[in-house]
Amino acid sequence: MEKVVIIGAGCAGLTAAIYTARAGLQPLVVTGPQPGGLLTTTSVVENFPGFPDGVGGFELMERMQNQAERFGARIEFGTVESVDLSHRPFALVVDARRVETEAIIVASGASHRRLGLESETKLENKGVSYCATCDGALPIFRDKPLVVVGGGDSACEEALYLTRFASVVHLVHRRDQLRASKIMADRALSNPKIRPVWNSVVTEILDVEQGRVTGVKLKNVRTGTEFILDCAGVFIAIGHVPNTQIFRGQLDMDEAGYIITKLGVFTNVQGVFAAGDCVDRVYRQAVTAAGMGCAAAIEAERYLSKLGK
Ligand code: NAP
Repeated sequence: MEKVVIIGAGCAGLTAAIYTARAGLQPLVVTGPQPGGLLTTTSVVENFPGFPDGVGGFELMERMQNQAERFGARIEFGTVESVDLSHRPFALVVDARRVETEAIIVASGASHRRLGLESETKLENKGVSYCATCDGALPIFRDKPLVVVGGGDSACEEALYLTRFASVVHLVHRRDQLRASKIMADRALSNPKIRPVWNSVVTEILDVEQGRVTGVKLKNVRTGTEFILDCAGVFIAIGHVPNTQIFRGQLDMDEAGYIITKLGVFTNVQGVFAAGDCVDRVYRQAVTAAGMGCAAAIEAERYLSKLGK
């Protein structure tokens, strides 16, 4: 029987692991399919306090994991397939193995939102990507025009990163103003290699028949005009969807699937706490996720000590 299982090993999960491990609870952290979470796909994190020169996303997460392990956290690469929160101890199925636990911290994060086009699915890994840091340096993208879709910080970051490899980066956004923070928007729009394409949406990615990306079909949402933009790759950065499907019907969540919490980290089930991108649809920063992970860990510890564990 576990005292506390942490579902997810991103910023929130690993911070919760550091705190619960230091409290002597020997947490079991189940990583999910992306150990380290979305931050591992970021190039440089410039706004995490304590790193005045920035820190690589992967490095930051590796450091957090080492810190958690140093205090006794057990990190298990695996996926939680289902949970039963209807009685205590709670039961989880982790890669077909049953695990029982007194408390759970849900830090399952979020995944990249997709455009929802058939051609997007068919051309994934054939020129369609959700991660410039992971794929941007591939030879197929070198000195070629590329497209980034989105208008937030992620889209700006992806576009800026891709300027290292691309001949030009078309930043396709559905409005005429970026949602990104001013510093990121200014950086992107002042880069001579980045060309914004305003008020436009991708209606199809070409060319499924050739089995590789040759361009995108765009539609101007104001005029209705359709046009084709040649490119060798499409990087989609249009936000995220919370990874909360397995909790549906057991934890309260909003219509978009974000877990609804009280006082930050308390879910509707006593003994189950939630933190990070699976809860937070407002701030979604590494440091806020870490803060929530810390709060969830402290509350889990208090809960367990009340149970006498
Ligand atoms: P976001 O802020 O939610 O932006 C998503 C963008 O995609 C928006 O511009 C949105 O358009 C557009 N979009 C959404 N659905 C679309 C669709 N179906 N088709 C076309 N466009 C669509 O997401 P994000 O950029 O991933 O950022 C998430 C959070 O992480 C934010 O809080 C951000 O500040 C943070 N972040 C920070 C940094 C940094 O500081 N360096 C880097 C990355 C992320 P609309 O604008 O019209 O809604």
